[in-house]
Amino acid sequence: MALLQISEPGQSTAPHQHRRAIGIDLGTTHSLVATVRNSIATVLPDEHGRVLLPSVVRYGADGVKAVGAEAAVRQAEDPRNTLASFKRFMGRGLADVQRTHQGELPYDFADAPGMVQIRTVAGVKSPVEVSAEILRVLRSRAEASLGGDLTGAVITVPAYFDDAQRQATKDAAQLAGLEVLRLLNEPTAAAIAYGLDNASEGVYAVYDLGGGTFDISILRLTKGVFEVLATGGDSALGGDDFDRRIACWAIEAGQLPPLGARDLRALQMEAREVKEALSSREAARFHVRLLGGDAVDLTLDTATLESLGATLVAKTLKPCRQALRDAGVDLVDIQGVVLVGGSTRMPMVRKAVAEFFGQTPLTNLDPDQVVALGAARQAHLLAGNRSSDDWLLLDVIPLSLGIETMGGLVEKIVPRNATLPIARAQEFTTFKDGQTAMRIHVLQGERERVDDCRSLAHFELRGIPPMTAGAARIKVTFEVDADGLLAVTAREQSSGTSAQVAVKPSYGLSDDDIARMLRDAFDHARDDLDARALAEVQVDADRLVDAVRAALAADGEALLSDAEREAIEACIVALVAARAGSDRSAIRQATDALSTATDDFAARRMDASIRSALAGRSIESI
Ligand code: ADP
Ligand code: MG
Repeated sequence: MALLQISEPGQSTAPHQHRRAIGIDLGTTHSLVATVRNSIATVLPDEHGRVLLPSVVRYGADGVKAVGAEAAVRQAEDPRNTLASFKRFMGRGLADVQRTHQGELPYDFADAPGMVQIRTVAGVKSPVEVSAEILRVLRSRAEASLGGDLTGAVITVPAYFDDAQRQATKDAAQLAGLEVLRLLNEPTAAAIAYGLDNASEGVYAVYDLGGGTFDISILRLTKGVFEVLATGGDSALGGDDFDRRIACWAIEAGQLPPLGARDLRALQMEAREVKEALSSREAARFHVRLLGGDAVDLTLDTATLESLGATLVAKTLKPCRQALRDAGVDLVDIQGVVLVGGSTRMPMVRKAVAEFFGQTPLTNLDPDQVVALGAARQAHLLAGNRSSDDWLLLDVIPLSLGIETMGGLVEKIVPRNATLPIARAQEFTTFKDGQTAMRIHVLQGERERVDDCRSLAHFELRGIPPMTAGAARIKVTFEVDADGLLAVTAREQSSGTSAQVAVKPSYGLSDDDIARMLRDAFDHARDDLDARALAEVQVDADRLVDAVRAALAADGEALLSDAEREAIEACIVALVAARAGSDRSAIRQATDALSTATDDFAARRMDASIRSALAGRSIESI
């Protein structure tokens, strides 16, 4: 029975009209779409009742295109034109992709500037276009099932996605004719799906093991507001790795000869099916017919699978520990653990997570669907189906931001995992007398030295009024807005002269880069501290030598006897010699010696300058 819509007098829009908004989980392996109907979030199946759309697009000659399962089955036979896992290429340049996925990819990348491009029989395709194909299919699925135009969509992205990756996702949506209400972080969406936004306040962990990636996020809920306290993970760890290990096991157990690419693919696809079957069974048959006509026919049981996968599961726990540390929370503070991603269906994963967190994780929602369901709930709200009851979403800075200081050191201004938006300021000063310009070098990373961090931008502050070294006060402000866009401003306080630059902090930085930079910082913490301490005494030494040399040139003749001058010069020579080495205490001692040797000289210069300032002026005029 169709419901009649009744419009109240005076109201321009029908009050009972439901605004159709959808949530989309645009996944590396699978994508899906959900909506809220009768206050309940539900996923929308295609006309065959399938909910998961494999994120695979196959381009044929003469414009034929297949998306989803139809494309996925052709992967083994036509790998070059069958694009999968392209989410990893979103917003990434060719160099990034080659560095992180060297040799594993069957695609023919075109040598183009900007985002990677893939050559197919149907022409060169960008990851944005390929993603748009997936979104287009989900959009028409939603329109068919909701019966009409859509108000908009919430699309989820990994919490780690940087600005370029987020922008690429928005571009794909636009290409697919979807209005993006908001991009939502995947872990936040999962928490929303579980209604944790209405739960008691506290800290929650979201453990997401998908096809090719692992993500752990620590969220804090306060007064219905989610804050991402920390994120971590491994961008090259997921269900595919289990498949690869099972395929290797099959090669060994079946004593197979060296195989071609197509046979290997076929083994991996079978491995995946067997692995999935073993999530609800004790043993499964592994059967593949090879191109040469031979067949592999084996049986895999759960005990063998567990031994094949044990190190992979263990590998997910290290980032969990790190994320807890970054968030500054203890295991006992974790109020709930949400499981996301198809691979968390594996009993061995659930067991390991339960043991690690010391509690049973939440699993009553389907781990494949939970992100899309949360996105649908958020879309429902944003489309105006409920009043002003919006969530405020906060994000974090993946790596610390700072500027270069003397001695090639980095002074951190915004710490890693600080919540966005954020503004932090710090004062700096000039190094030389009469310095009128200052070069500001903006860096990202955890290490102490400039060479070990990533350079984001350079700019210059000019027009500083000439003053003695150390007198100018230059305030450097870092502001990062909610979209992760960084603006750095430098302002000389007395004259108001200012300069600024805008940067996208993590542009082009992959999860791997971030992980590597963090690991390096951790491994080198001790060296870095030593390096910093050494650089600091060197900077002090240089500053003093410069100042004394300038003073000698100006007033040495007038104010010092030859003997005094020689004594000071000897101290300079000693300090310069110590400075050339790396013995911190020797440099410190030589610095102190020069400083003591010039005490009198400094006092005389001060007297002289006061006298000259006062010359010709009466007391009353001062
Ligand atoms: P992504 O977020 O990368 O798109 P998904 O959450 O869809 O990934 O997870 C896909 C992975 O989940 C694949 O490796 C798939 O084999 C695995 N998976 C799906 N169902 C099961 C299952 N029942 N048991 C084990 N693994 C599963
Ligand atoms: Mg996912």
